[in-house]
Amino acid sequence: MTACPVSHELLDIEYEWDKLPVPSSLREFEAAWSNRRNPLDYSGVWRFRKLLPFASDSQIVTIGEGQTHLQQTDAVGKYIGLNSKQCYLQYEGMNPSGSFKDNGMAAASTHARIVGAKVAACASTGNTSASLAIYGGVTGLFKVIVFVGSGKIAYGKLSQALDYGAVTLQIQGDFDDALEKVRLVSKEAGIYLCNSVNPFRLEGQKTIMYRVLEGLGWEIPDWIVVPGGNLGNSSAFGKAFIELKQLGLIDRIPRLAVINAAGANTLYDLYQHHNLRWNAGRPDQTLIDKFYADMDTQNRRANTLASAIEINRPVNLKKCLRALQACDGVVREVNDTEILNAKAQVGAYGFGCEPASAASVAGAKLLREQGVIAPSDRVVCILTGHQLKDPTATVGYHAPETDEAKKLAKSGVNQCSFKNTPIPVANDLQQILSVIRGLK
Ligand SMILES: *Cc1c(COP(=O)(O)O)cnc(C)c1O
Repeated sequence: MTACPVSHELLDIEYEWDKLPVPSSLREFEAAWSNRRNPLDYSGVWRFRKLLPFASDSQIVTIGEGQTHLQQTDAVGKYIGLNSKQCYLQYEGMNPSGSFKDNGMAAASTHARIVGAKVAACASTGNTSASLAIYGGVTGLFKVIVFVGSGKIAYGKLSQALDYGAVTLQIQGDFDDALEKVRLVSKEAGIYLCNSVNPFRLEGQKTIMYRVLEGLGWEIPDWIVVPGGNLGNSSAFGKAFIELKQLGLIDRIPRLAVINAAGANTLYDLYQHHNLRWNAGRPDQTLIDKFYADMDTQNRRANTLASAIEINRPVNLKKCLRALQACDGVVREVNDTEILNAKAQVGAYGFGCEPASAASVAGAKLLREQGVIAPSDRVVCILTGHQLKDPTATVGYHAPETDEAKKLAKSGVNQCSFKNTPIPVANDLQQILSVIRGLK
């Protein structure tokens, strides 16, 4: 069960902190690293387990997730328009399955083990299925069934689900359809559901913020910028900061910027144009219902190259509103051209990410141009997934004369500002030398 049977609102985890051993300072977590031969202290999720205390040590599932680092980069900072030393990238592509999803899946798998689940399922634009598949495959604790939309999944991600041995159902439809179906199927068949409707996913994803603070020597940045799809991450980040403040472990909360793709901009539209707000836990349901009814009438479907955020019905919408309230947040949209140009800059400076991830950098640049982010602000952009997840987008961007490039142009991406085109050359020493000597 992931929602209240009466209100149909998603469940949320609350702890009775006064009965739990709460750390007296965030610096306590640094000590765990010296104990990293214990897998629970090695894990970038579970070494913070006092801040997600729902499992006993013997129940915890870990495959070494969360070995991710905060990287400072002046080059990307310059692209965004920030002063030197103010731009940070939290590179979550270094997780076992190559995306931040492993943070949440470690927690959901732990809960699945606690309740003795034998089968786990999710709908996915790709990364959730890759993550669930690896947890099922490596631990052998449960069988995995993944639902993907037809033709909507990047090959890197699909190949992972297949390789890790998950039963893979390709549903005729898009992610929103697949999620609706997996929720029904899980309820009917008693299967453990691992989408971010599962509140334990969000508990694991809180730790991304703990690692960001750790990377900054426990200082609070001015901004956290994150792409928004199903809004699990943004919701989790908000919850992390609300709790840290409540526990007296931080004295200030950073501002949160959630970035939609323009082709999947439900949050942006509702927040920016319809003024939907958390409203002390009572967001305007009539407004939301009408928005989705109009969407259905007009048959509006999510459409962006950033496939990981190609979602029009974000399930964590309300939790995200809570996060935006707590973090004095803003929401923006960026188009696919802006996303791919930002991605090329992230790649050129050595990090590399998939398209959806680069929405954070494109969004930070936009907010900087609008004067919302100041040049002197310290900004952390979350790079949610690995570059190799979606090579088709990258190759299409850089190669001018291929079908891939034409496909990109057709979907509206025609100003590839940072193209690095492969140069065709004959298999001939003189010709190769003359090309190399001609390079600027
Ligand atoms: C899942 C995913 C997102 C979207 O995150 P939400 O929590 O659904 O908003 C963004 N980028 C990548 C790479 C993802 O896998």
